[in-house]
Amino acid sequence: MTALDMSHEKRKSAAEAAALAHVKPGLIGLTRPQLMEALKKAGLPDKQLRMRAGQIWNGLYKSGFTDFSAMTTLSKELREQLGATFDISRLEVVTEQKSVDGTRKWLLRLPSGVPGVPGPEIETVYIPEEGRGTLCVSSQVGCTLTCTFCHTGTQKLVRNLTAGEIVGQVLIARDALGEWPDSNRNSDDRLITNIVMMGMGEPLYNFDNVRDALDVISDGEGISLSKRRITLSTSGVVPMIEKAGAEIGCMLAISLHAVNDETRNKLVPLNKKYPIKELLDACRNYPGLSNARRITFEYVMLKGVNDSIEDAKELVRLLKGIPAKINLIPFNPWPGSPYECSDWAQIEKFADFVNRAGYASPVRTPRGRDIMAACGQLKSETVKKRASERFKEERAEA
Ligand code: SAH
Ligand code: SF4
Repeated sequence: MTALDMSHEKRKSAAEAAALAHVKPGLIGLTRPQLMEALKKAGLPDKQLRMRAGQIWNGLYKSGFTDFSAMTTLSKELREQLGATFDISRLEVVTEQKSVDGTRKWLLRLPSGVPGVPGPEIETVYIPEEGRGTLCVSSQVGCTLTCTFCHTGTQKLVRNLTAGEIVGQVLIARDALGEWPDSNRNSDDRLITNIVMMGMGEPLYNFDNVRDALDVISDGEGISLSKRRITLSTSGVVPMIEKAGAEIGCMLAISLHAVNDETRNKLVPLNKKYPIKELLDACRNYPGLSNARRITFEYVMLKGVNDSIEDAKELVRLLKGIPAKINLIPFNPWPGSPYECSDWAQIEKFADFVNRAGYASPVRTPRGRDIMAACGQLKSETVKKRASERFKEERAEA
């Protein structure tokens, strides 16, 4: 590092520290022990911590409050103290789009941590279907992996989401859908029945925050969505799969997409590090795996690349002995994408073959394509600025 860089770094960290001093710490996304710890640090007496944490938890996740003043189970004095100390506001909704098929997509802005500087953006998608509603949640801004058929993969990683930002996406969707108890909806039926970690990013590269967020979301006292209704999709980060089973315990989906290493290396470059055999071994050892808790194998249908009946045969052979479902995903194109979606007749032939081999193999109906909300189409404009660009900008501002 040159002397110039060093003074720049020092100047930058001093400026950031000063700015951050004005940003109140957030409570959303903290696990119960973390929440109690935060309240303790704020000076609440030890013997009250459990009860106060419970009251705040209910306010945040049962009632959906965004302001302490609404938490009337707490004294006015305490509400004021908490309001002055902590942040429980929502992420900023930049735009909300609704597809002709009812799919909704939110573009959300995350805080940058520096007042006046706009933070990076992410996308969250809600997909209503007969009898269920699935929320597709992002775990990172962009992705470090570069799967060649995925739009998000063309966006460099900007940063991991915090647990609060992951939980925050669920809160925004519940606000927009009117899914809090005091809203005017005349039904107790859940609108969000399932959550899939299939938005932007690789969830197993943001393990701790994803784990904590899913603990908050599945906590029986709050949003209370069972881990059996939460699916984490991974491109195949083999060393983290067992840990995910042990520490998160939600349903698992694997983005397989090809049946030999040569093709998978091209589609999912991470395969060069963790090839198919290792990936499937990790699946066989996934804690809690049974016929009632199957792994979903996702398989994007790319014309002339991975969609032959030979491929289907090999898929069935590879998955032998693993309690599995196969989810065929018609490829969703994006501007400049180098692939075409398989013909419908070919997708049906492929699906028929795996079906006859005994696998449930629903073809995922593309949803929200008109608003670029379908699988693999998510990408926000936020790009990671090269340090030199940032440096130039800061110099210009100084
Ligand atoms: N990073 C994780 C989760 C996010 S991607 C993963 O890769 O599993 C969610 C799913 O969408 C994955 O199965 C992914 O392979 C698939 N996908 C990505 N781009 C797609 C596209 N253009 N068309 C269809 N599916 C796509
Ligand atoms: Fe990242 Fe998943 Fe897209 Fe691959 S498919 S680039 S892992 S988001």
